[in-house]
Amino acid sequence: MSGGDKLDFEIRPNPQPVSAAERAALMANPGFGRIFTDHMVTIRYADGKGWYDARVEARAPIPMDPASAVLHYAQEIFEGLKAYHAADGGVTMFRPDANARRFNASAERMSMAPLPEQVFLDTLHQIIEIDREWVPTSDDSSLYLRPFMFASEVFLGVRPAQEYLYVLIASPVGSYFSGGIKPVALWVSQEYTRAAPGGTGAAKCGGNYAASLAAQAEAIEHGCDQVIFLDAVQRKYVDELGGMNVFFVYDDGTLATPPLSGTILPGITRESVITLARAAGQTVEERPVSIEEWRADAESGRLREVFACGTAAVITPIGTVRTPDGEFVMGDAGPGEVTMSLRQRLVDIQRGRATDPYGWVHRVL
Ligand SMILES: *Cc1c(COP(=O)(O)O)cnc(C)c1O
Repeated sequence: MSGGDKLDFEIRPNPQPVSAAERAALMANPGFGRIFTDHMVTIRYADGKGWYDARVEARAPIPMDPASAVLHYAQEIFEGLKAYHAADGGVTMFRPDANARRFNASAERMSMAPLPEQVFLDTLHQIIEIDREWVPTSDDSSLYLRPFMFASEVFLGVRPAQEYLYVLIASPVGSYFSGGIKPVALWVSQEYTRAAPGGTGAAKCGGNYAASLAAQAEAIEHGCDQVIFLDAVQRKYVDELGGMNVFFVYDDGTLATPPLSGTILPGITRESVITLARAAGQTVEERPVSIEEWRADAESGRLREVFACGTAAVITPIGTVRTPDGEFVMGDAGPGEVTMSLRQRLVDIQRGRATDPYGWVHRVL
């Protein structure tokens, strides 16, 4: 019984927005996820009532009862996408409809109320409109949008909550790679897995991230930047990184990426890369890739490049893979040509510098 596809937002502008001078100082070097805009969007849900009380208001702490269900049983999901400053002074977003659909797919897996896709899109428009001064204008920056939803019902019984709070916040972000794009080193987690068949691997839920932190800490201990997970059943096939999908590029020009088997998050960047590669005549296979195969092909030179992809970093070259048995290196361990060319094509569409034959770019302002 969710509400209609159209909600009226009550707009209460922040009475004390950050001054233009202070905003400029904050945005000079925003980093990732450190600074936030003046506003947030919130919508409440209750069983029998649907979605109600949609607001655009000053970003502020959310009062929470200690018995709120999310604090105990982790019914929480989120999304991440970016808004870009367009050449003509406007603002665009990249494939927000795909995020809206995935948000509801995650909600369904976590037994949460679905949010009408149009309402999800409306919230993105609302925050961009009111916080448009926070959309960075520089070429390698963007406004990161973080919609999320959690069980707000005050109840300790174990069952799907009957009340939810949807929140949207926004954060100006700089280039993910300060000082140029350099390949990362991955640690192959031996002890931990990210997702098992039948689990929540395909849902964008906070719990998946909580469970990945120990493995990420292990990666850092081994001198690596990121962790890569193997499948939970055979501990053999490559799943993905903690928050990025992975692609392999072979010497005959073909690409491979693990299939969406339910244990992998269906990345929108992943899907966009597949589309762009195929449009350029490249073969992309969605198939399981084992860690032994990865090592053998890297050592024989058949495997030329490997990269990870996701909204935050777009496309990240992978240079080294480390396991307890030693490490192996991709190609010449530098960013590969195919990787960088795909990255360029994708970023050019996202930033309106190339034509967009797929209807991916969504105009906001
Ligand atoms: C969000 C996410 C990705 C990347 O998805 P995009 O839609 O490309 O940003 C990949 N893996 C995990 C686990 C994620 O949470």
